[in-house]
Amino acid sequence: MKIDVSKIVKAEGACQAVSVEISVDKIDFNGQEFLFTAPLKVEGTVKNNGGNLYLDAAVQTQFVVNCARCLKEITEDFEFDVNESYTQSEKIGEDSVFLPIVSNTVDLQSAVEENFCTSVPFVFLCNEDCKGLCHTCGKDLNDGPCDCEDEEIDPRLAALKAFLKND
Ligand SMILES: [Zn+2]
Ligand SMILES: [Zn+2]
Repeated sequence: MKIDVSKIVKAEGACQAVSVEISVDKIDFNGQEFLFTAPLKVEGTVKNNGGNLYLDAAVQTQFVVNCARCLKEITEDFEFDVNESYTQSEKIGEDSVFLPIVSNTVDLQSAVEENFCTSVPFVFLCNEDCKGLCHTCGKDLNDGPCDCEDEEIDPRLAALKAFLKND
């Protein structure tokens, strides 16, 4: 998704409204899969300040993600901000925080996807009190206890057991 900024790219102080919807199927990040059930709705402005362009926008979307404990699918409404700076590519050095302005357009897609990844929580739970799955038999403990329960073992041994099992 690229935005035409030809009207403001040479006019210092000029500002342009941004109102677009970006369709993304899914983003894989941090071992989680986010399946989008709504487009990423971007509302904000791009402003020319001293010849550079600054995007300042709010993004709204909805996605399905798995509970970190029981793996149940959860639908989440999510909002985050995107702040990104763009400049003419010849001015971009190695450590630059700027993204390039290419043929009077700026790329919104990568800015939005990157900011999504830095804003989204690491862990989603279906419920704060989610009991998760039994490490031994895999039963969803929210549906009641399983038969492994009487096998009370030392937590350190349990950790070792889980470790060996994952290997
Ligand atoms: Zn859960
Ligand atoms: Zn069990």
